[in-house]
Amino acid sequence: MAIIIDADACIGCETCVELCPDVFEMDGDGEKAIVTDPDSTAECVDEAIDTCPVEAISKG
Ligand code: SF4
Repeated sequence: MAIIIDADACIGCETCVELCPDVFEMDGDGEKAIVTDPDSTAECVDEAIDTCPVEAISKG
């Protein structure tokens, strides 16, 4: 199971990064979030999934 972000859907709101900075960070342009720890089991990942306004985060 891996955490993934749909880059086409992400609007770069940074909410996931604020909630879970060990797992998500903004890309070089600051426009999209990327996953830095796809195997994380941290609870904040689920919180980010639930909070993302465009439902761009999932576990595949
Ligand atoms: S919370 Fe969703 S829309 Fe916002 S930066 Fe993260 S993945 Fe992108």
